[in-house]
Amino acid sequence: MIAPTPVALSGSRPQTAIVIGSGFGGLSLAIRLQAAGIQTTLLEKRDKPGGRAYVYEDQGFVFDAGPTVITDPSALQELWAAAGRRMEDYVTLLPVSPFYRLCWEDGYQFDYANDQAELDRQIAAKNPADVEGYRRFLAYSRAVFEEGYLKLGTVPFLHFRDMIRAGPQLAKLQAWRSVYAKVSEFITDEQLRQAFSFHSLLVGGNPFATSSIYALIHALEREWGVWFPKGGTGALVRGMVKLFEDIGGRTELSAEAERIETEGARATGVVLKDGRRFTADLVASNADVVHTYAGLLGHTPRGEKEGKRLKGKRFSMSLFVLYFGLKRHQPQLQHHTVLFGPRYRPLINEIFKANTLATDFSLYLHSPCATDPSLAPDGAGSYYVLSPVPHLGNAPLDWSVEGPRYADRILDYLEARYMPGLRADLVTQRIFTPNDFQSELNAHHGSAFSLDPVLTQSAYFRAHNQDDAIRNLFFVGAGTHPGAGVPGVVGSAKATAGLILNQAA
Ligand SMILES: Cc1cc2nc3c(=O)[nH]c(=O)nc-3n(C[C@H](O)[C@H](O)[C@H](O)COP(=O)(O)OP(=O)(O)OC[C@H]3O[C@@H](n4cnc5c(N)ncnc54)[C@H](O)[C@@H]3O)c2cc1C
Repeated sequence: MIAPTPVALSGSRPQTAIVIGSGFGGLSLAIRLQAAGIQTTLLEKRDKPGGRAYVYEDQGFVFDAGPTVITDPSALQELWAAAGRRMEDYVTLLPVSPFYRLCWEDGYQFDYANDQAELDRQIAAKNPADVEGYRRFLAYSRAVFEEGYLKLGTVPFLHFRDMIRAGPQLAKLQAWRSVYAKVSEFITDEQLRQAFSFHSLLVGGNPFATSSIYALIHALEREWGVWFPKGGTGALVRGMVKLFEDIGGRTELSAEAERIETEGARATGVVLKDGRRFTADLVASNADVVHTYAGLLGHTPRGEKEGKRLKGKRFSMSLFVLYFGLKRHQPQLQHHTVLFGPRYRPLINEIFKANTLATDFSLYLHSPCATDPSLAPDGAGSYYVLSPVPHLGNAPLDWSVEGPRYADRILDYLEARYMPGLRADLVTQRIFTPNDFQSELNAHHGSAFSLDPVLTQSAYFRAHNQDDAIRNLFFVGAGTHPGAGVPGVVGSAKATAGLILNQAA
């Protein structure tokens, strides 16, 4: 157990820390704290680290459960640098090209690649007028990237004055407009509009409601590329855990926090479901923000109040994910494919607002063996397909009934349009539903991306990286600033570590 004797954070340097949750945010924060000399213990509920980046293995097939599009490798390299190590000694990142293949039901395909001439050629073939429009969109995307990611992405927003300071720039970039509205200002072809606006869905944002600041994802991908870790995203997680432990950090798996203990306005430690008790000078939670306040701190007035407030917020969509292994790899598929269904705006509206499951779907299909064949037995292929679906607060479906039916519909669709012979080659399959997001990951409403990243729930209006009342309690991960996605949560760890280390300095 960690040594007790909590010390005041302000003015004196904390000696020990607990991080609850080993998602990319929790791991990144744990590495930064440990690298700064704070003895850190990582407590993870599940039997493996990674959170949404969990790994399933079955009959030689390896399935990354969540993130597969790895962007901004520089943010990851920073973690190794902070610990005086080199990322290349732990993880190999492989480039992915094209970044994505986008497919529509009318047979149109667009390969989104990091090659200006190739992009121009494809845009000109679709709608010549949009070549110039795309260039203006890229310039806009780069401007938001500079402001929203490079300048503000790793800076905590604890005070309203921080928001006011950022105001003029946000206003200049018309941050109140939606991603889709902004893209449409530059591009006229409807399929190209979809091609350049769907990205916010990757971090849980509705392109018709999310701030146009999220158009920065396009510039971010163009700047640093799209990568895939050799051995899968799980290999990146394992590399981060190894780095953390190599520098002296301690990881406890199957260690579910039940309660954060407090004394007055201070957190003093964590009690696990199995009764074990850990004490430390500071506690940071990477678990869902509602779960942390309403559950882990529900026994305190602060937890009760903040939990209730957060429950009143809008939550992002959930996902239905189907992992499957085929005895033959399907080489016609790119690593990342987006399959647009017959409807775009109406379907997205239903995903974010409806109380039922739509009859159609748009899908993301992951074919990692296109980059790394080692993720399946010789000649075979590992896949996952995901469908954005309403969260349980909007559509309280019984996924134990709906899930298998939905899986069948998706497999039929894939076989008919994109993956001939799929059923005959099927070796293994498993699903992860909104119910699993809720029960396995303690996600409020089973949301896959926490708070909906609309402007009124961003930056200062998101859960703060440091609690306003319990000053040695911190937050990291998708529910905090800047938000979901691997670069987002790794950035949130930098913001939170900055708060801890600067205040203690
Ligand atoms: C299917 C899917 C695909 C995605 N694809 C991409 C992608 O390609 N690229 C990208 O950038 N992003 C992607 N994302 C988003 C990205 O994965 C997440 O935003 C990010 O990984 C969340 O990290 P986090 O730090 O918030 O922690 P999480 O991954 O949410 O982890 C939180 C951890 O806390 C643990 N925990 C919860 N309660 C407790 C408790 N009481 N005690 C102990 N531990 C607890 C959980 O078990 C979990 O391990 C995807 C998400 C999903 C679901």
